[in-house]
Amino acid sequence: MRPLVVLGATGSIGRQSLEVAERLGIPVAGVAARHAGDDLAEIAAAHADARVVATDPGESGSARFSEAFGTRYAVGSDAMTELAAIDGAVVVNGVVGAAGLSASLAALRAGNRLGLANKESLVAGGPLVLETLAAGDGEIIPIDSEHSALFQCMVGEQVAEVSRLVLTASGGPFRGQDRASLTDVTPDEALAHPTWNMGSRITIDSATLVNKGLEVIEAHFLFDLSYDDVDVVVHPQSIVHSLVEFTDGSLKAHLGATDMRIPIQYALTYPDRADAPFGPFDLTARDLTFETPDREAFPALGLAYAAGRGGGTLPAAFNAADEVAVAAFLAGRIGFLDITACLEAVLEAHERVPATDLDAIVEADGRARSAAEAWVESR
Ligand code: MG
Repeated sequence: MRPLVVLGATGSIGRQSLEVAERLGIPVAGVAARHAGDDLAEIAAAHADARVVATDPGESGSARFSEAFGTRYAVGSDAMTELAAIDGAVVVNGVVGAAGLSASLAALRAGNRLGLANKESLVAGGPLVLETLAAGDGEIIPIDSEHSALFQCMVGEQVAEVSRLVLTASGGPFRGQDRASLTDVTPDEALAHPTWNMGSRITIDSATLVNKGLEVIEAHFLFDLSYDDVDVVVHPQSIVHSLVEFTDGSLKAHLGATDMRIPIQYALTYPDRADAPFGPFDLTARDLTFETPDREAFPALGLAYAAGRGGGTLPAAFNAADEVAVAAFLAGRIGFLDITACLEAVLEAHERVPATDLDAIVEADGRARSAAEAWVESR
């Protein structure tokens, strides 16, 4: 079995990846997280053969890790990038944010399989990631639930015969509310996602529909389809994870439990399937409904399409500004509607350049972050 490398090992995707690996008997060759904390130490202790990286450990944490794990411990983003290039590995990239891009590139350059849960890799660096993918022997198997669903619907199909991708959105905790009623939303209310249990940034992004916007951009790059052919439909039950419509009028949908272990496992076992740790799915227990997204109450979706169509570093700026705005919202510095207002202001002022080399993308990301910070500061 190919060894597994898990980047973002202490996060929600990382932990579930390690759980799947353990159940399937897949050896773990490397784990990386931001901090050298107890959670990473526990994971490192459980996988005695794995290399261990903390990208931002702090001095005391690092000393403790050096003592406990010796030469299999390393520090910094470059060390994480080296893990991604371990020979023959399947690399799950569960890093949160644009920080995951260089590891995705390293995995593809090394000819590895990239299990992509870091949607920002494609959002910020789509053209560069695709160029790197085409130049080598690597492959991308998406782990984002919607894109895993689309990928699975596409097995045996041709892109030329696809008329439309339909991404489903739960609608988040504020579905059905109008814009005015969202003014005083608190972080706790926004963190209460109705169907998926996820990290805090993605949960806020689900409440604003920024997450769906990022996923539209991700799908555009992953499946090489124009933005006109990527649609979003609100499906509050989160049972249909996405659909592909073909030129002959057929629609293929992927259905299942809201459990990230399903797309994670598929990325590890593709093209094969392994048994799941749960019983048959009860289709009769609930209704399936679909509705049009409310773009007035949730204007971030339209902004994402505009950023995507604008191209270059605009999607990177959209993502970077959102990382800043969400952190500011969670810290109580700005209101819920300010998140989208901040994105709009940053996009409007962003000077776009081609997203074809890492330095340009990192620079644009930094510019957008500063602009978002300044916007937050001015409130
Ligand atoms: Mg998703």
